Amino acid sequence: MTTGTAGEPAGAPGRVVIVGASAAGLAAAETLRRSGHTGTITLIGDEATAPYDRPPLAKEILRGAWTPDRLPLRTEAETVLVAVGSRPNTEWLTGSGLALDDGLVCDEFCAAAPGVYGAGDVARWHNPLFDTSMRVEHRTNATEQGMAAARNLLGARRPFAPVPYFWSDQYDMKIRAYGYLRGHDEVRIVEGSLADRKFTAVYRFGDRLTGVLAVGMPPRRIRGWQQAIAARTPWRDALSNPPSVPEGAAA
Ligand SMILES: Cc1cc2nc3c(=O)[nH]c(=O)nc-3n(C[C@H](O)[C@H](O)[C@H](O)COP(=O)(O)OP(=O)(O)OC[C@H]3O[C@@H](n4cnc5c(N)ncnc54)[C@H](O)[C@@H]3O)c2cc1C
Repeated sequence: MTTGTAGEPAGAPGRVVIVGASAAGLAAAETLRRSGHTGTITLIGDEATAPYDRPPLAKEILRGAWTPDRLPLRTEAETVLVAVGSRPNTEWLTGSGLALDDGLVCDEFCAAAPGVYGAGDVARWHNPLFDTSMRVEHRTNATEQGMAAARNLLGARRPFAPVPYFWSDQYDMKIRAYGYLRGHDEVRIVEGSLADRKFTAVYRFGDRLTGVLAVGMPPRRIRGWQQAIAARTPWRDALSNPPSVPEGAAA
């Protein structure tokens, strides 16, 4: 990347190349433009098609609820993106000098090296909220991290410290999770039951609440748990004083 262009945010590069034309790359490209970057953005992807959204492939399209024309992330008239994907495709970076370890290793600012940022499925970054490195293969993270990387590239220097989130629809079963569910020390069901196929389970790592997984529960019922995870709530406090359920979320 070259030096900044007149009128751009401090630290802004003049030219940006984004590798990976999907959720993370698109979010990064759009954030660059919205943040005032006027330099060139080059998006490189491996597809012959316009950038498209992966999750509906396995859900709405197969169910017949959507027609394929709804898959593109944006209309073709909008120029687009980049960031690398779902299986960490890092072979092409071997020998580049960048650190690779089940993904492109990035710091809390999503930086892999000066002027080089990672976002989306390919990025293993240090999440200061959990004080651990993680790589998240979910749609929401790809968008949020693409935006965060773009802002930091423009000089924001803001740590990317989200409570990771994913959802999945498995037939009629809705699954939602917040937090970091790997390497936990304990899982406890706090509402519902496995037998009912409807439950909320919370996760402990050390003495902290680190995750919540809900199956078949209304989304608003776990929002409080999400906030408790973001607030680094101790496990004991979370269980003795569970987050309240917003009114109207009980059904
Ligand atoms: C079928 C399916 C269903 C899914 N369902 C869900 C779901 O229900 N919920 C959920 O949260 N997530 C789901 N996901 C995951 C979600 O789609 C991904 O997290 C998201 O697409 C990641 O975005 P990304 O931009 O990081 O990577 P990707 O979408 O994988 O895009 C990677 C991009 O990088 C490009 N690229 C890679 N290597 C190179 C290279 N060497 N040179 C040039 N370009 C390169 C590719 O061509 C592509 O454009 C699903 C994924 C799939 C495939």
